[in-house]
Amino acid sequence: MKVEKLHMRCLINGEWRDARSGSTFDVRNPATNELIATAPLLDREQVEEAISSANAAFPAWRDLPARERARMLRAIGDSLQRRSEEFAQLITREQGKPLAESRGEVAYSVNYLHWFAEEAMRVCGDIIPSDSPQKRILVLKQPIGVAAAITPWNFPIAMLARKMGAALAAGCTFIAKPAPETPLSALLLGELCQEAKIPSGAVNIITGDAAMIGAALMASPFVKKVSFTGSTEVGKLLIQQSADTVKKLTLELGGNAPFIVLDDADLDRAIDGAIFGKYRNAGQTCICVNRFLVHESFAQEFSERLVERAKGLVVGNGLEEKTAIGPLINDQARDKVVGLLNSAASDGATFLCGEGARQATSRFVEPCVITGVKPSMRIWNEEIFGPVSTITTFSSDAEAISLANNTPYGLAAYVYSSNLNRALRTAELLDFGMVGINDTAISNAQAPFGGVKQSGFGREGSKYGVDDYTVLKYLSVA
Ligand code: ADP
Repeated sequence: MKVEKLHMRCLINGEWRDARSGSTFDVRNPATNELIATAPLLDREQVEEAISSANAAFPAWRDLPARERARMLRAIGDSLQRRSEEFAQLITREQGKPLAESRGEVAYSVNYLHWFAEEAMRVCGDIIPSDSPQKRILVLKQPIGVAAAITPWNFPIAMLARKMGAALAAGCTFIAKPAPETPLSALLLGELCQEAKIPSGAVNIITGDAAMIGAALMASPFVKKVSFTGSTEVGKLLIQQSADTVKKLTLELGGNAPFIVLDDADLDRAIDGAIFGKYRNAGQTCICVNRFLVHESFAQEFSERLVERAKGLVVGNGLEEKTAIGPLINDQARDKVVGLLNSAASDGATFLCGEGARQATSRFVEPCVITGVKPSMRIWNEEIFGPVSTITTFSSDAEAISLANNTPYGLAAYVYSSNLNRALRTAELLDFGMVGINDTAISNAQAPFGGVKQSGFGREGSKYGVDDYTVLKYLSVA
């Protein structure tokens, strides 16, 4: 097939490359297990070559007028928009999500590229009045240098687009390492960079052994910044590995999102928000609801309505239009979800629907709703990453806030209430980087995405997103 044949090579220094050894790894469709492509297993020397080429390309890219960099970024976004159906089909085949969600992911990625094309022209410093009348204080925002991105499989193109957009806008050159499960759309994005005439070496896309590539990027004195989206475990490893070269990091790690339904919530809105916030991408996003915290006066009605809607979600191959929930990414992901369900059941939680998932042997896991979930349970404390709703009740706002904050994670949280003041007060007390008020569709190019606590640091998207790729230089002029 055209896409596979053309794009299963890495982009290094403006050229498409195979592994020198000829080694490849397999990429399979999680829905069918069909082998859909192979991608290069680069060796360390080739990773070093990508780093050197990004380093060599940096001065010219940095010095290019922002308008020129913006034009190229916009061109990449335009091409992605033009080829959105091809990308969406590829994302569903490599990742499994329903086609409608893949189309949404492509549109969302285009937004990041276009957003950062505009931000590229507004990377402005400051002139600060000095105490001394003879002096001037100038603050420049300069690109940090070579930036690398390590991206996850759950949003194969969007996570790359939002990191690449910000890096190129700031004037950094860029190296991307997509997840081994989903490298295809990332490699295809390289073709769009070539078409947009991004200079050789300014964007490199490399695949292979994650630990080796990660170690090479982290050890390199040329790589000045790494932006990572993935597990807290790998994020902590990268913090350790960054020490030697004192690298700037952006870390987008795990979440454990609470969804608080206060006793004055509009239940229709809450149920709609719950279905979108929990079950999209089969529950495999870092901002997916992990814990529904529902006021006791509402708990029964909320649970019944959630069950009714969850049962109506069709599980299947994402290429079929009626599918609402695709497969989990792989068997390990399924085993983890099954383990959490069985552990919750043996700790006393009750299944309101989907109990069959406890014995799931395929990656197609039916949507579950379980109740009686407590902070002592594993399923409360671990990121579920599956189509499982857990419900816990509370009796006061203060209790809801304390339950919500009872986690080392702090990425997204949600509050449903018809009283805006009450919702705002609650949101202000939640230890999370993002709070959706009567809203679970919170991620977009204009807003700063990121977490606190063990969910990481740094922000992506928005006017703040470029800052992660710049350094301030202060000039004292006497
Ligand atoms: P998940 O468990 O969701 O796959 P990971 O943190 O393992 O999350 O993966 C996110 C990204 O991190 C992927 O691109 C993966 O290849 C990469 N990765 C995994 N292990 C390492 C590592 N030791 N060093 C650097 N990157 C890694």
